[in-house]
Amino acid sequence: MIPSQVIEEIRHLLGAAHVLDSVALALKNPGVDPHNLAAGWLARPQNTQELQQLVRICAQHEIALVTQGGRTSLSQGATSTPGQLIVSMERFNRIRELNPLSRTAVIEAGVTLAQLDDALAEHQLSMGLDLGARDQATIGGLTATNAGGNEAFRHGCMRERVLGLEVVLANGECLSELHQVRKCNEGFAIERQFIGSEGCLGIITAVSVDLVSRPHYRATALVGIEGYHQAVQCITALRFKSALLAAEVLCEGQARYALERIDALPKTPPAGQVLLLIEFTGISDTEAQATLAATLERLFEDELILDAWLAKNAAERAAFWRVREDWAVDQRYPGGLWYDVSVPIEHIPTYLSQVTANLQQHDPSLQLFVVGHLADGNLHLTVNCDHDIHERYEEIAPLITHSLKSIGGSFSAEHGIGLEKKQTLQRESSAVKQAWMRQLKLFWDPKNLLNPHKVL
Ligand SMILES: Cc1cc2nc3c(=O)[nH]c(=O)nc-3n(C[C@H](O)[C@H](O)[C@H](O)COP(=O)(O)OP(=O)(O)OC[C@H]3O[C@@H](n4cnc5c(N)ncnc54)[C@H](O)[C@@H]3O)c2cc1C
Repeated sequence: MIPSQVIEEIRHLLGAAHVLDSVALALKNPGVDPHNLAAGWLARPQNTQELQQLVRICAQHEIALVTQGGRTSLSQGATSTPGQLIVSMERFNRIRELNPLSRTAVIEAGVTLAQLDDALAEHQLSMGLDLGARDQATIGGLTATNAGGNEAFRHGCMRERVLGLEVVLANGECLSELHQVRKCNEGFAIERQFIGSEGCLGIITAVSVDLVSRPHYRATALVGIEGYHQAVQCITALRFKSALLAAEVLCEGQARYALERIDALPKTPPAGQVLLLIEFTGISDTEAQATLAATLERLFEDELILDAWLAKNAAERAAFWRVREDWAVDQRYPGGLWYDVSVPIEHIPTYLSQVTANLQQHDPSLQLFVVGHLADGNLHLTVNCDHDIHERYEEIAPLITHSLKSIGGSFSAEHGIGLEKKQTLQRESSAVKQAWMRQLKLFWDPKNLLNPHKVL
């Protein structure tokens, strides 16, 4: 438990209204994981100086800190336990600078992706990164997990979007490297180690990012495809189109269950075992529609697609995205398992048939559902059964991950390691890498106070 005099010290620093106890936390949404708020104490510093002092107090009393942004982690990265203090970044909510000429912005860690996107819209700019949790996920969380999302095939993951960082270190010092230029070689780029470090090396307070032109006009289709072999051929053709904004894959089961929950669309998805959500941009809505329609026609002629729905307006476009992003399968099969892998695109058909065969052989009652960002080879595999199987993550993981290394893939694409993939990391990563990761942790956080027990 955190000693009461430490809580008093923190209350004195932040103001009592910004130190929440378990009673106040019971009224808060814990986010994706029910254990996120289990620590029972949450502090809300409002700026870097306050956070530095908070970290110093906690370092002195050896109180462990779990930093939280939007609590949308899908790898148990933001969970906490009694005796720890949650540091909520919700009051780091300012866009410090927005520079349309240099196409950069400096954003505080607690700003959500949707809030940033609203601010960028009036300048015809975009972050170049989008994902389903856009309304909750914060810039700090996105950076700390090196998030990917729908546009990574065009603009990269957060590591490629970030130009600089401001970070409060485990001893309370502040490392400020908020560059707003693309070329910057000022010795070792130590600040970049915090991208993807999942709150284990430091607390990110602000991030400077590279912005991209905002695609205004969009045309969207949901197409049905016979199988993954044809889906990969479609992607190969689509990647030659500069108009391509998104190419998201979903299996027929995901589409069917999602459509049951969407009134605006027919209940039966476009024909095919695999569906692709394809989005194009253009210089007008009409031009984007025409380019997309012509491309689909060509794909029909080449017998790569079987069926297609073309969104007629913005409402239908949003409904198509819901078919992709709806958590329909998880609602249908509570207690299922999520795996987040990257597969070089040419290997996807073989990889998926192998995984399906592995699962069938292991336990015929298991069902596989697939959604993902096909254009960059990131697949989210959910393994479900007619009862809760959440205790079986480790038992099933090797069936999903064992061949990935040999084909150049990854067992952890975009959600991070958190607690969920710790054992997979131990199994799949080299001893050399793990030893240097431990050295790095020791270097930045010698007392093991920052998000302890996560990742390593
Ligand atoms: C519906 C849905 C769709 C999603 N889609 C995608 C997707 O397409 N691509 C993708 O990559 N992810 C996706 N995610 C996962 C999630 O949104 C990302 O991992 C996101 O980056 C987490 O941001 P957050 O602010 O919610 O962080 P949190 O969940 O609060 O924290 C995540 C991790 O980051 C650390 N952290 C948070 N803020 C900071 C900070 N300021 N400094 C240091 N460490 C910090 C935490 O300690 C924790 O380890 C999705 C999640 C949901 C619920």
